[in-house]
Amino acid sequence: MTGTTHPDVPSGITVRRWGAENGDGLVIDVDTHGGPLVHGIGVEPPADASRANGPTWAYVIEDDGVTLIDPGHLGSIDFLADGLNVLGMKPSDVDRMVVTHGHWDHDGGVAEFADASGAEFWAHELWAAYSPYSYGQLLRADKSPLRIEMTRIGERMRDTGPRTYGGSVTKSSGNGEPGNPERKPGGGRDNYEAMRSSMKVDRGLVDGFRHGAIEYLHTPGHWPDEMTIKLGNLIFTGDHVLPEITPHPSMAYSHPTDLSASLPDRYKNPGDVWGLMAYLKSLHRVCQLGKGLTVMPAHRLFNRNQFRMTDERRAVETIAFHLERCDALVRAIEDGYTDLELATRELFSYRPLTGSYHLMSAASETISHVELLEDTGDMVVHDVEDGDGVRLELTGSRNYRDVIGDLIPD
Ligand SMILES: [Zn+2]
Repeated sequence: MTGTTHPDVPSGITVRRWGAENGDGLVIDVDTHGGPLVHGIGVEPPADASRANGPTWAYVIEDDGVTLIDPGHLGSIDFLADGLNVLGMKPSDVDRMVVTHGHWDHDGGVAEFADASGAEFWAHELWAAYSPYSYGQLLRADKSPLRIEMTRIGERMRDTGPRTYGGSVTKSSGNGEPGNPERKPGGGRDNYEAMRSSMKVDRGLVDGFRHGAIEYLHTPGHWPDEMTIKLGNLIFTGDHVLPEITPHPSMAYSHPTDLSASLPDRYKNPGDVWGLMAYLKSLHRVCQLGKGLTVMPAHRLFNRNQFRMTDERRAVETIAFHLERCDALVRAIEDGYTDLELATRELFSYRPLTGSYHLMSAASETISHVELLEDTGDMVVHDVEDGDGVRLELTGSRNYRDVIGDLIPD
């Protein structure tokens, strides 16, 4: 952005280097009022990954050694190393990397960064438990009629619609010189899954684990291994709480049978870590952590040429958003959209859903709401016998309004 006017910088943030309008390449310091030094790097995705959410924000905390939160995608390491260089650091200065959760725009870079840095790899203990399972395997292992129907919808669409999964390949932005790294392909989904299943965790974390001034909280629901990391009045939220956008809740998967036997008792009930209800409870927990906390999100810290600062009240807004979405789903069923695809298209009528990936994502989010309404006794899912999908039926109660309402602080 050399030569253009820079936007206002919020108090508590110092810009070390400006980047793109979406935050790619931006490097900042974050004030901790005399606490440990904290920095943020907008790590650009590789050439074959989606740019929809902008960079993955990696954070560096200098406290009892150097901790790196979320290295980003497989294939992003040149952008991460470039950001570290702006801070006067090398990858080998990092003692440990921690991932907020097991999604490829967060943990994709762990193996290449471990190789470059020698840093330890820390993650919530469910990261290692789930790392051998690809998204496709999870979907196939779960025999819920809703997920079978979702797979069917996706396959039908794949035969007719454009394949948009993973985003389009764009031209390289850099020239490969220091300070201007080149965008290279990240290796795609197959390489990511192979990396994940072979990567060893040096320290598996549990809720409440502390290291120096940093506290690790297990906040599952967007994904079962998600953590919110707290340092003073900063909360590093991964994808749990995001400015501008509402993170995708997971579906209420059951644990794969072979995994279930080996899980510690505290994770035996899949509903504690999977699904919208788990997510809403984790959001509730974050809004109870204190007042005036600064959210350090993994996406959208800076977008459309502005800093997008939020606090713990963003978690409250996100709970309220899902309450409204449950209301919208109930209205859609009342209006006769009782088929999963029709209900999904009605709920997301503001989006075209022309590609298989977009329709599958929207259907999975619809399912997470259907599953919550089943749990609260407000909806029944009928498996239509001739293999023709599912039929959604309301029971007449609206218990979800109280159940979710109770999670919204006054
Ligand atoms: Zn995620």
